[in-house]
Amino acid sequence: MKKITALVLTVVLLPLALTAGGSKEKTTLVMGTNAAFPPFEYIGGATGNEVVGFDVEIAKAIAAKAGKTLKIEDMEFDSLLTALQASKIDMAIAGMTITAKRKESVDFSDPYYEATQAVILKAENTAIRNLDDLKGKKISVQLGTTGNEISKKYTKDEAIVAFNTGFEAVMELKKNRVDCVIIDEQPAQNFVKKNPDLKVVKMNFDPEFYGIAVKKGNPALLSIINATLAELKSSGRYDALVTEYIK
Ligand code: GLN
Repeated sequence: MKKITALVLTVVLLPLALTAGGSKEKTTLVMGTNAAFPPFEYIGGATGNEVVGFDVEIAKAIAAKAGKTLKIEDMEFDSLLTALQASKIDMAIAGMTITAKRKESVDFSDPYYEATQAVILKAENTAIRNLDDLKGKKISVQLGTTGNEISKKYTKDEAIVAFNTGFEAVMELKKNRVDCVIIDEQPAQNFVKKNPDLKVVKMNFDPEFYGIAVKKGNPALLSIINATLAELKSSGRYDALVTEYIK
């Protein structure tokens, strides 16, 4: 009887122990994102409640190269860096701009997309045409983003309303509670496509580069990520994804 129990324990529990074991044997690769940032990550897909988008395709390629199963954790954008540091996620792929400040707490991959900020206005608003016109305006943004930082250059903190998602920032404008939204250009275009009462105005903002963030001191994962990005570009798959999701 004892022998049987021991055998059962070995057969049943050993594989469990191996797969659920320490981080080295982990079979999943966890992507953290904020799925309210189309076309990079948004809720959609066949079932209508999957996290899909340009960044998700990149994450799938990274997981395939690492030989792991991709798992996606949808969370607030502002929580991603803390989640990385606490090892709750392995990589943050969220249209995240590489900045000096973020580099103090996490490591970034090679840049994978060049972006810029843009301004969303009510379609009838002709008073805001350039960066100077943003001075002193009421601006809504997504909390913790580069758009949030940039808005501070133009207006007082009290005139900035920060939301957890870009979608909520856009809703604030639709309700006429702010003069404009400052957000990355591609999501801006995407939101405006669905809202004919809004328009996008491109201004002279600096270029930004999106990177994939990992916990500091994880060179193995970082090199898999960079190798995947290089392969996606050289194989033409990257351009195909740009055409499918962005252009
Ligand atoms: N690119 C911007 C940033 O890094 C916005 C990213 C986002 O909202 N997902 O702050």
